[in-house]
Amino acid sequence: MIKGKKLYEGKAKIIYETKDKNLVIQHFKDDATAFNNLKKAKVEGKGVLNNRISEHILTCLSHCGIKTHLIKRLNMREQLIKKAEIFPVEFIVRNIATGSLTKRLGIPDGTHLEKPLLEYCYKKDELNDPLISREHIYSFGWATENEIKIIDNMTIRINDILTGMFRAVGIKLVDFKIEYGKSWNKDTEQKEIVLADEISPDTCRLWDVKTEKKLDKDRFRKDLGNIIQAYQEVARRLGIMPEETNISEVNFGRTIPIKFKKK
Ligand code: 5GP
Repeated sequence: MIKGKKLYEGKAKIIYETKDKNLVIQHFKDDATAFNNLKKAKVEGKGVLNNRISEHILTCLSHCGIKTHLIKRLNMREQLIKKAEIFPVEFIVRNIATGSLTKRLGIPDGTHLEKPLLEYCYKKDELNDPLISREHIYSFGWATENEIKIIDNMTIRINDILTGMFRAVGIKLVDFKIEYGKSWNKDTEQKEIVLADEISPDTCRLWDVKTEKKLDKDRFRKDLGNIIQAYQEVARRLGIMPEETNISEVNFGRTIPIKFKKK
């Protein structure tokens, strides 16, 4: 697949065009950012791991009937995906209270929620991705009521599948963020809603069942160290990485700070 010109560069990924107008290439960078870009670093190997982990998760979801943008992984850092018009909304699912929920509402960290909590945030870096209600989404035409009904059902199903998948390997799925888009289905000749972006330790909170050790991007956000080792642990437990692979062999794991400003 020949890579065409760069269409978009985000914080962690780059999108390139292909010769097919309905397909693009998604490239995973090593860049890590937090607190809306105030904290930045290069974490060597992160892009490779997220590419593999996200491919594995989206493939499993697709086997369970979830429509996704993924066509196939092309190489260590790239995937061929369907081009999608992304809804400007981040869909967040919480099973355990932590992060911004505890800060916003004073709920004790680690509280198990009776049922998954769905939240919506407006995807707008300049505004810090603010929390919004469904009414905002309808009011500003970011998605229709019917689209949100479909997305909410997909999101709950994804949470069920992923909670089981991670539980089976000793990991609690605490919360995660997903994105959706509309892409062209060449069989039905219609646009359809697909799960887009990525699902990886960058977009989920993953805690070890026994020790509650964080195996996700909070290691970067909170300066806990061993970021790549944690991502590798997730990959190993999911059966993606051979047990014997160790970081030094693949020259992974160096974190190079780019900028750090306290808010
Ligand atoms: P919180 O709102 O507690 O900061 O995040 C809730 C969940 O959504 C966490 O798993 C977090 O990683 C994910 N999340 C929320 N916003 C973003 C974002 O802009 N980028 C990424 N990578 N993850 C996000």
